[in-house]
Amino acid sequence: MTRHACNLALVRPPSVDSLANSLKSSGLPHQLRVEAARRAIAGNDHENAAAYAREIYDDLLQPVINGTGVIIHTNLGRSPLNPDRTLPNAYRYSNLEFDLANGRRGSRDKRVGSLISKYIGAESAIIVNNGAAAIFLVLAALAFDRNVVISRGELVEIGGGFRIPDVLESAGARLIEVGTTNKTRLNDYVSAAKNSDPALILKVHGSNYKMIGFTETVPVKSLKTIGLPVIFDIGSGLLDESAPWMGWPTPSWLKGEPGAKQTLESGADLVTFSGDKLLGGPQAGIIAGAKKLVDACARHPLYRALRPGNLTLEAMADTIFAYLDNRADHLPLWKMAKIAPGELKTRAELLDSGAVVRLKSTIGGGSLPGQEIDSYGIALSGDKTSDLRKLKVPVIARMEGPDTVIDLRTVDIKDDSYLKSAIRSLP
Ligand SMILES: *Cc1c(COP(=O)(O)O)cnc(C)c1O
Repeated sequence: MTRHACNLALVRPPSVDSLANSLKSSGLPHQLRVEAARRAIAGNDHENAAAYAREIYDDLLQPVINGTGVIIHTNLGRSPLNPDRTLPNAYRYSNLEFDLANGRRGSRDKRVGSLISKYIGAESAIIVNNGAAAIFLVLAALAFDRNVVISRGELVEIGGGFRIPDVLESAGARLIEVGTTNKTRLNDYVSAAKNSDPALILKVHGSNYKMIGFTETVPVKSLKTIGLPVIFDIGSGLLDESAPWMGWPTPSWLKGEPGAKQTLESGADLVTFSGDKLLGGPQAGIIAGAKKLVDACARHPLYRALRPGNLTLEAMADTIFAYLDNRADHLPLWKMAKIAPGELKTRAELLDSGAVVRLKSTIGGGSLPGQEIDSYGIALSGDKTSDLRKLKVPVIARMEGPDTVIDLRTVDIKDDSYLKSAIRSLP
């Protein structure tokens, strides 16, 4: 390059195209690189094009490493899916709405639902997009323009502004509150049932909060004696309270979480729950129980608007297969929950990058509040959370006092070597 050309390069701003091309290592597709380049040139700031590209990149959906120790982390996509289930690099159809036996149009509605039914002993089940959709559809299909009896202790907000009274109202049902915040007795339900001709009794598990002390709630078994349909939104989707996949005895941190199987056994007509909390599957909502009621939900026009696509259904089928095949402990959720603290300690020592510390993991996802699982991880002094977020694969850590801690329970062992070099690369 001549001296003259060199000077020119300094004064003349680069073209959008050449600047965009220079950003290839950002990992962004061409159009987004152009956007970063344009922004830089418009601001007469082409030196910072890479920083703009990074900003755009940070805003994309991308994998991160969860070092928080919160197993079902709502901000990080709740239950992680099985990593083996990546999109195969090939055309991929399924018999979503096709009947292989007779070659005619089939129905997507019950195929995966029937697998869930088998595991929890339900007559029937359907799947919708999330837990909120499940309870919304149930109320719209079974209680539109009718009364619904619910305890004042169960008028909860689940998170993200999802409030049970609002859901009831938007589904067209009318709320009949009974009892008090801390105590509701069978008689409260009985008199409401007598006086208001309700369509159903709704019970909602207070997933993300706990009442202690002077409290009383009415179990499903007693509610059933009233003779109305009992619907229980158990929320977290623990399929079986005894969690046989966790071995014996059942871990103490699972105590008090209602299981879908047991809730139906105790007489609930329907249970509703999420697919990506304690079930360990994809984002989904499940409505399971009496065939007559499930069918009423499936027939409602809203069902069509709320039903998931085949990616979700296939991932759910895989997840339920693991349960039916007695290998639910291989699902990422339960695998993480089951790892012995000693194993995590050994990994922390092998990382050899920071102090090895005892930590407490939590289940998260608005389930099992206050329950902790012993864990190990590493501590780095000072606040490194922002530097860790800026890594190529961002690592999400948390602060404990003056230290940044990374809990290894929620980190895949396959990511340990990356973590090691990433930590060593920190400024
Ligand atoms: C989480 C939860 C919901 C909402 O489920 P989403 O899958 O988040 O839509 C509803 N009810 C209860 C009791 C829950 O715990």
